[in-house]
Amino acid sequence: MELGEFGMPQAIAQRQEATVSHRVNFWGRPSGGSTVSWDYESQKWVVKRPDDGSPALHRTVRCEVCNKALHYAIHSVEATRRRQARRRAGAYAGLVVLLVSLVSLITLEDSGAIRIALTATGILVGAVLGWVSGLAAADDMGVTGHGAAWPGATKHAVELVEPRPEELPELVCALCGHREEFPWGSHYRKGFVRKQYQAAATRLENHACRRA
Ligand SMILES: [Zn+2]
Ligand SMILES: [Zn+2]
Repeated sequence: MELGEFGMPQAIAQRQEATVSHRVNFWGRPSGGSTVSWDYESQKWVVKRPDDGSPALHRTVRCEVCNKALHYAIHSVEATRRRQARRRAGAYAGLVVLLVSLVSLITLEDSGAIRIALTATGILVGAVLGWVSGLAAADDMGVTGHGAAWPGATKHAVELVEPRPEELPELVCALCGHREEFPWGSHYRKGFVRKQYQAAATRLENHACRRA
């Protein structure tokens, strides 16, 4: 496991678009292998951050699905970077605990029950701490409240919308206006985005055009 697997932190700007999403299903839907997925209904939200050094702003968004008022704290660009750095430090600390415990396990001479138990606890704590902090560092966009800054399927999720990269032109049929959607964003792996884009381009080529 390396920290790079947690993905790059997202682009942080003082004013940027985000989506607020309401989770529709309560239980995760099996989506192949050991993963489950949740369906979200999304609405747009423009996040305006306070100036660096200013305290977090408190904003309320009303969910269009359940009409609940959602209160979020919005942190400045600088404070968001600090939060990400703190969580990355947590991830490293977790890895250190994990490694020390593993070394201790390998070098066990007297297999005392207590020492084995301590070592096993260290491995578990280290793994969980490292994993959660690492995920959270990649996930933290400086908008907190309702679990928004933590990974996992919360009832309401906030996600930043990154502008579409210039090297990925829109996929729209010039004749009929048919559009193929594709994902982008620094939180995806580069290879994944490229593959999805190629697949979308192929779908556009083969679409049943109403004008051709
Ligand atoms: Zn809602
Ligand atoms: Zn067409």
